[in-house]
Amino acid sequence: MDDCIFCKIIAREIPAEILFENEDALCILDINPIHFGHSLVIPKHHCRDFLEVKPSTLSGLMNAAHTVARATVEGLRLDGFNIFSNNGGIAGQSVFHFHLHITPRYQDDNIRFLLKLKKYRNGEMAEYGKKIRTFIHQNP
Ligand code: 5GP
Ligand code: ZN
Repeated sequence: MDDCIFCKIIAREIPAEILFENEDALCILDINPIHFGHSLVIPKHHCRDFLEVKPSTLSGLMNAAHTVARATVEGLRLDGFNIFSNNGGIAGQSVFHFHLHITPRYQDDNIRFLLKLKKYRNGEMAEYGKKIRTFIHQNP
């Protein structure tokens, strides 16, 4: 993808602080971190969101995330961290090449999603379960 910033970083056309790479993924520091040490785990092939990630690269991607999360916890002596991913503009995605965020967390850092949690009423949980199960197709 010609105008994709992450493809350019993967191709070493623009610089980034690289933490780790394997065959399937590149891990870099986020340029505008939630906390210093916040990193991004990026599949090497261009894909817009999680659903477009090539199934054959999922294991390499998650292995890279695991490796970098462990190093971040040890290197920064963390007691906790978040792994998350925004998929789609309405979910907050701003770079449309899939990536996982790994961000350090600290006591009383006051970072939270503002959530209004719902309660399922009679039969609704089963109804939602069915709606989703109908479309479960396992990766080959
Ligand atoms: P999203 O908003 O799509 O979930 O996350 C995109 C992330 O990419 C943001 O946290 C943003 O700071 C980071 N980002 C955007 N452009 C660059 C860049 O050129 N270099 C690096 N290292 N991070 C970037
Ligand atoms: Zn890309």
